[in-house]
Amino acid sequence: MSRGAVRLVGAGPGNPGLLTIRAKELLGRCQVLVFDSLVHPAVLAMVSPDCELIHVGKKSGGLAVHQDSIQKILVEKSKDGKEVVRLKGGDPYIFGRGGEEALFLKENGITFEVVPGVTAASGAAAYSGTPLTQRKSNSTMVFVTGHEDPDKEASMVDWNQLPKENSVLCIYMGVANLEPIVSKLIGAGFDPTTPVVCVEWATLGRQRVCRSRLNTVVEDAEEFWLNSPAVMMVGENAKMGEEISWFEDKSLQGLRFVVTRSRGQASELSEMLEKRGAEVLGLPLISISKNVDEETMADVFAEIASYDWIVFSSPNGVRYFFEAFFETFDDIRSLGFLRIAAVGEATAKEIRKYYVTTDLIPKEANAESLAKGLVETGSLDSSKVLLVTGNLGKDLLRSKLEEARAIVDRFEVYKTEPTDLSDDPAAKEFRSRGADAIIFTSSSGVRSFVDQAKDLVIESKANRPKTVSIGPITSSTMSKLGMPTDFQAEASLDSLVNVVEQHFGKGSK
Ligand code: SAH
Repeated sequence: MSRGAVRLVGAGPGNPGLLTIRAKELLGRCQVLVFDSLVHPAVLAMVSPDCELIHVGKKSGGLAVHQDSIQKILVEKSKDGKEVVRLKGGDPYIFGRGGEEALFLKENGITFEVVPGVTAASGAAAYSGTPLTQRKSNSTMVFVTGHEDPDKEASMVDWNQLPKENSVLCIYMGVANLEPIVSKLIGAGFDPTTPVVCVEWATLGRQRVCRSRLNTVVEDAEEFWLNSPAVMMVGENAKMGEEISWFEDKSLQGLRFVVTRSRGQASELSEMLEKRGAEVLGLPLISISKNVDEETMADVFAEIASYDWIVFSSPNGVRYFFEAFFETFDDIRSLGFLRIAAVGEATAKEIRKYYVTTDLIPKEANAESLAKGLVETGSLDSSKVLLVTGNLGKDLLRSKLEEARAIVDRFEVYKTEPTDLSDDPAAKEFRSRGADAIIFTSSSGVRSFVDQAKDLVIESKANRPKTVSIGPITSSTMSKLGMPTDFQAEASLDSLVNVVEQHFGKGSK
């Protein structure tokens, strides 16, 4: 019987960019993923569509799967010959029960590997400006669990023996026991004015930082509504963030945006927003896949050198066209001497990836301007034009070009379909936590959102997320479908991010 293996993988503190390369590699190829509650939806999106997802963390309001059952799942799935990833927040061997799981696997003769991750304290330290060591003043750090009740007799943490000076104490799982922990530390002889910093949701756009001192932190944390997950760091270095914090200063830090994306495609927009400190929930509202009719393709490619223009109306069109093209030809010169038009900058950028320049980009990124630009070249009469589109491509462009007496062939290379969001982790987050704004980048995204709106809509009217549209075409679809557009950009990602920063960013209100 074939046997799989289990990988105990650290997912880091939450920010998907802090995954290790090994973790990403294993996620991409595992057949079963067993994961806890704190894992980011973007990390879950890294697995292949046919991977079995098993959530063993606490479900909202419910209970976590018992540790024994988790271990049994790992053994059973690997005995079925499956490649299993057991994904844990932070590092598997730091307050993660990774040690117990490894022992159990060993006892059952299962092959395993352990992939370390950035632990929460390390993430919180970096993202709040709190060096855990400092050459001249600080040479010890302690990771301690605050989950044990410090008053219970059998406590394994000796609160009296912790280093009181020249050290940073990192307390995990301490939010619920803050008061007893603080009184134990002061009772043990810690200076009551020792600086303390609590970092909630460290490394994520939703990170919040509460800076305080040992004798005031209980009150301050209450006023701050400090919640789990948070790491509390105690020591002189805990005040260094006043000088060297950097993450909190980002323009969109603390804000949450929903972006619509297509399944399986990384979103450039998400990256741009995350870079500015935002938390991004990517809803895979549409799925885009290659869809080329073999006969049409054969006809088009047989005549490819006879076209005068190729017109691309979207970056996806470019991608799937060239994929098909290079399956047939192995030399770009087989395109012949034709000219190339793109509906906008993003499409031209995609064309540039093939070392091909675009001859015409209209001022405004829409079909009307594109048609106008082409007509104005005066080259259309009796010319042959190849229109590369998806299944939703409108015929407006075609009819305008035909009016100018061009001979137009339509070449459909991809199709756009709505997806089902009922089980999507990002959609779940959105349903339970809402968002500051929903950002629409295409009409098909708007349509799919509206179709699923009943399932997604947040009840409270007062908290209705604002809506941002990438440009006039998307806005007009929104208005046709009865959705208000609060802010509109000028049909490019750069302008979209500017609009978001202007209306939501620091200093905007
Ligand atoms: N194995 C994990 C720790 C799991 S215990 C690791 O190495 O990080 C769970 C505790 O980790 C939480 O109670 C909290 O104290 C801390 N934690 C996890 N993610 C965190 C985050 N993003 N921000 C702050 N604390 C976090």
